[in-house]
Amino acid sequence: MNWEDFRKWGRRAADWAADYHAGLRDRPVRAQVAPGAVLSALPDAPPEGAEAMQSIFDDFEQTILPGMTHWQHPRFFAYFPANAAPVSVLAEYFVSAIAAQCMLWQTSPAATELETRVCDWMRQAIGLPDGFTGVIQDSASSATLCAVLTMRERALDWQGNKAGLSGQPRLRVYCSAEVHTSVDRAIWIAGLGEENLVRIPTQGPTRAMDADALRAAIAADRAAGHLPAGIIACTGGTSAGASDDIAAVMDVAEAEGLYTHVDAAWAGSAMICPEFRALWAGVERADSVVMNPHKWLGAQFDCTTHFLRNPDDLVRTLAIQPEYLKTHGADGIVNYSEWSVPLGRRFRALKLWFLIRAHGLEGLREMIRNHVTWAQDLAARLEATEGFEIVTPPMLSLFTFRHLATADHEAHNQDLLNRINDDGRIYLTQTRIDGALVIRFQAGAFTATAEDVAVAYDVITELAEANV
Ligand SMILES: *Cc1c(COP(=O)(O)O)cnc(C)c1O
Repeated sequence: MNWEDFRKWGRRAADWAADYHAGLRDRPVRAQVAPGAVLSALPDAPPEGAEAMQSIFDDFEQTILPGMTHWQHPRFFAYFPANAAPVSVLAEYFVSAIAAQCMLWQTSPAATELETRVCDWMRQAIGLPDGFTGVIQDSASSATLCAVLTMRERALDWQGNKAGLSGQPRLRVYCSAEVHTSVDRAIWIAGLGEENLVRIPTQGPTRAMDADALRAAIAADRAAGHLPAGIIACTGGTSAGASDDIAAVMDVAEAEGLYTHVDAAWAGSAMICPEFRALWAGVERADSVVMNPHKWLGAQFDCTTHFLRNPDDLVRTLAIQPEYLKTHGADGIVNYSEWSVPLGRRFRALKLWFLIRAHGLEGLREMIRNHVTWAQDLAARLEATEGFEIVTPPMLSLFTFRHLATADHEAHNQDLLNRINDDGRIYLTQTRIDGALVIRFQAGAFTATAEDVAVAYDVITELAEANV
């Protein structure tokens, strides 16, 4: 394809995308294909000769599309959302047309400076105080890895990268059992070892770390000759929205001199609404905070904002400057590749800039507030319906429930969930709460309406009744 053909296909792609979105409600949310079906429909060997774009496009529609789960479907209630507002799709189109490598300031000054500006817009939007500096990472998992590496280097007086960990005391990091598995992986990758990720018991309806238990665990570790390095707290855990008491965690961290990271990958988007900020009260005292505009907010994947009270600690941990990356003659500039693990960087700030401007914070707040209200309404309706039990109450727009059975609850709810997802009108996933399998619901699709959530009630109750 040359750029003249691109004109024609680019227009077709725009029409296709708008039609695709307009017709989403008529498609099953979760792909309904059997394992291996797509693979076996694809030729074993690559083509030797050029193929016509029309034929590539036809195969895309006929072979690939039926095997896609429609994450932008308005009745996607599984996992967490991965919203792509139309304006952010457009921004990504411009980004991929320019296709710049934005690793250093000089490799695209506008990308760096826009990133600085929109990160500060997001900081203000979610109510973090002046003094936090943001960077866009490719994922919350990467941001958490960066935080763990920083904890490690700080605890080792910045000698870990150089000397390694052998001969050092055991470095210890503290969190609850409700944090995302990206924390486990960050601990593995940082070389600390899973045994040194200390799980603090949780308490109360918010499933928050018990601060006394946290204090006791740190004291016991110090007595044993271990080296406490940091604490990872969460606001809006993935399973059921568990949220630590950040102020209580910060009291401990400050008394112990420990680095703190707050994972609000999903719930952070809701902090654009001041009324939800009580959920992470005390966050202004944290060292590192992560939230994903690529989840609920609508800046499509990948777009993780990572806020740091002192970015120098992160840069000291990650910066490396061979001659070919030096930016001579440009002082006082930021090279964001020194703030992240990968060197190469996409131009991720553009979609966030487009999104915030096209919707305004007030437009985005309205979406979040609607989702929270609709999820609360659905939980209340299910609770009032015989045979249903709310297991964890709505935390923002997320709650869990189960349908009561005479015998095996697990098998019954797994079967109900499978039938719901085979039906295709909505999509839900499961989790475990205190060891028991439950069904998880979250409202968060960018284009969801109250009617879509009402359809969820109808599908859930209809299919539950069909099986009693
Ligand atoms: C989704 C999620 C993550 C992982 O986010 P990625 O950007 O996919 O790495 C981490 N923590 C929480 C609480 C999440 O909800």
